[in-house]
Amino acid sequence: MPTPIRRFPLPARLVLPLLVLLGGVGLMAAAQAASGRVEDAASEPAASAVEALPKVIAKDELKHKAAAARAVKSPASGASAAETKAAPTMSELRNLIDQKIAEVRARQGPAPTLKLVAKGGRSRKHGAVASAASGPLSPQDGLAWQGEHWDYNGPAGPQNWGRLKPEFQSCSTGKRQSPIDIRDGIKVQLEPIQFDYHPTPFQVIDNGHTVQVNVPPGNAITVSGRRYELLQFHFHRPSEERINGRQYEMVVHLVHKDAEGRLAVVAVLMDQGKEHPMVQLVWNSLPLEKGVEQASPVMLDLNLMLPEQRQYYTYMGSLTTPPCSEGVLWMVMKQAATLSPYQASVFGRLYNNNARPIQDASGRLIKEGQ
Ligand SMILES: [Zn+2]
Repeated sequence: MPTPIRRFPLPARLVLPLLVLLGGVGLMAAAQAASGRVEDAASEPAASAVEALPKVIAKDELKHKAAAARAVKSPASGASAAETKAAPTMSELRNLIDQKIAEVRARQGPAPTLKLVAKGGRSRKHGAVASAASGPLSPQDGLAWQGEHWDYNGPAGPQNWGRLKPEFQSCSTGKRQSPIDIRDGIKVQLEPIQFDYHPTPFQVIDNGHTVQVNVPPGNAITVSGRRYELLQFHFHRPSEERINGRQYEMVVHLVHKDAEGRLAVVAVLMDQGKEHPMVQLVWNSLPLEKGVEQASPVMLDLNLMLPEQRQYYTYMGSLTTPPCSEGVLWMVMKQAATLSPYQASVFGRLYNNNARPIQDASGRLIKEGQ
């Protein structure tokens, strides 16, 4: 005698709750799959950046990924007790589903942020970024993370940098951010910056945010008895810093690092005027593709990047790009250099506006050299 088919193997009162539960599980799976895709897309540019970066950065990148992974996991670490409970009632099932969905959302973090990252990761190619620093400020974090999507306008623009990644938080919560409008400085006798700059080979890279020139070790400044090695210099248009409210055509930032990892940036403002011979050498070596370093066949005399007069303003600030790490010593030369309108327009074709808006000086001390 054949076994009779049981049409309703489960008590009818359990069918509806089970259907609801299955629906919830399906939703969760879809949400998790979407979250996975987003994370993969976001990690693409970072991974490609690591390939071309020095090992020290790759190591830090890993450290960051581990930290990020920990940060992502922690909100979900309190596992739901309902998971282990048997024979839940209808309302318990509803609660369970709500809890599960909340956990998935918590794991995903703020949804709009991740969407931005994913979009950027897919639509833009960011290359490796160059010279990094290391030390207590972790400025290399910023350089290593330059593969992540942030921008100078739109939803990934400066007003949202602090929300794009936990590592970028200083961009919105920092109290000593750069750039600032330099005014009301205390006039003092500042010791001259000793420039130990020499003709040097150089490589040019368009890193997706600016044109950057990387130089090998051997060029440095000494200030307050501390020696800072030049890592790289790069350009902003218009100038990020202002002097008594005035913004300049462009600015070049010469980024230095000392043995303890402290950063010192020398800013040279540039007005429209006579052609700048060193800027021309850099433009001559502009790479055809983003993220690819182009070695110049000629040497660059770094002294010619500096104005004749070396008085400067100085204050403590931050990186002007994510992660906006603070503790950066800024020295802004008072005399501006010049570049021709054509030279400015060449940069403008690549980056017409890559200047972070002015940040609140918050009563910081600014010294003005006489
Ligand atoms: Zn800069």
